[in-house]
Amino acid sequence: MPPVPRSFAASISWPAGYAGRVAEALDHALAEVPAYRGWRALDPGPDVPVFERLARFPALTKDDLRDHGPDGFLPSSRALHEGIAQGEIELVQTSGTTSEQVTNTWHQPWWDASERASWRLNSHAAAADLGSHREAILTSPRSTGFACEEGTLPMAQRIHGRFLYLTERTDAGAWTPALMDRMLRELAEFAPTALEANPSFLARLARHVLATGARPRPPELVVLTYENPSAAQRAIIRRAFAAPVASSYGSTEAGYVFMECERGRMHQVTDCCHVDFLPFARRFGGPLLGRLLVSTLDNPWRALVRFDIGDVARLAEAGPGEPAGTRCPCGRIGGIVLEGIEGRASGITLGAHGGPVTPADVDRALAAVPGLVNHRLRQDGPGSVHIAYVLDAAAGPTRGTDRAVRAVLRRLYGRSCAIEAREVPALPPEPSGKYLRAAPTFAVDVDSFLDDAYRPPSAARGG
Ligand SMILES: [Zn+2]
Repeated sequence: MPPVPRSFAASISWPAGYAGRVAEALDHALAEVPAYRGWRALDPGPDVPVFERLARFPALTKDDLRDHGPDGFLPSSRALHEGIAQGEIELVQTSGTTSEQVTNTWHQPWWDASERASWRLNSHAAAADLGSHREAILTSPRSTGFACEEGTLPMAQRIHGRFLYLTERTDAGAWTPALMDRMLRELAEFAPTALEANPSFLARLARHVLATGARPRPPELVVLTYENPSAAQRAIIRRAFAAPVASSYGSTEAGYVFMECERGRMHQVTDCCHVDFLPFARRFGGPLLGRLLVSTLDNPWRALVRFDIGDVARLAEAGPGEPAGTRCPCGRIGGIVLEGIEGRASGITLGAHGGPVTPADVDRALAAVPGLVNHRLRQDGPGSVHIAYVLDAAAGPTRGTDRAVRAVLRRLYGRSCAIEAREVPALPPEPSGKYLRAAPTFAVDVDSFLDDAYRPPSAARGG
């Protein structure tokens, strides 16, 4: 018999009543929701504390979501076609290639509640009185449905209710100065309270602002989402826009999961989700580094339990004698506190001794290279990486950058790693519309980095 997996949740302080809500969500899923029928035999029963119960179940993958379909996650008391007919839900498909796409049941009131809960975790968002505010959105038109690669879409056609979509062009590297000037004019005219942006897109606009000396009308809050911002992107966005910047983390499947507070740490949105943190083994960066499984709370149309959201995170370090992942200088207590998101698990490359190098490790290393504003690193196998990077034209002379890039990457990947580096004028997005700054081109078994004591049963090895 394999040992019973441990739960990291025991070391976290949770809000009052939270464990009961998680138990209710789990009991509901096991009793009512078809996708979890096969899990019932694994349940040690309600006498076992809920976080220990949860640890006995496998992770729910995107393949599971596709295999069961939207019906599989619907309680037996509800019917999909009725929900659609009554306007309670709609079906939405996530972006990506066909094999990556998932059809999600979208229940707007739950999504809105999850977003509102996230705002309470940042004092600037809380003060901005968000909810019926005007919002400008700068992200890939592939995610917003406003794509137009030839000609232009007039502003009126890109306004939808209280939202203005700032671009119809997918490739931020190919934006013209005229298009970016138009974005700045529209920001002044539309006067949004919040600007929600993909950091790769907003960093491109920020470079234009700094290069031209434009003075954009600042929103009350810039929310970075869709992708994990790099240190270099954050720095350039802060220089260009005189507004507080907060990173918001979640997914179409799981809603809002973490929100960055005004002190720069990420707080779990405990109103709407539970997070299981699966730490890596100590030699692979654990227990601070680990994977995230998300269980949704109180969504009447969709029950997700231990959904593998596909990212790696780093817990906030704590003082002596305190458990990691619990404290922030802002003083908010309750739920998991992260130092930050480390990037997609599928973006993990291998370091000198076969350990994980996260996309954020690469971002942090390259932040030390002056003028480097964007990069695309690929690893074809252990012991070799190649990188294309973009330099800020306004940053001045950049002789020796190749050497600097190689030096910082050698520290990450080891002295014997073959590093090919080249400067390029711009980098195109991936077919999904997003930018993938680091990734292996071969299979890396990220589960092999997990601490065995916390390994979910589906990832158990050797029986
Ligand atoms: Zn905080």
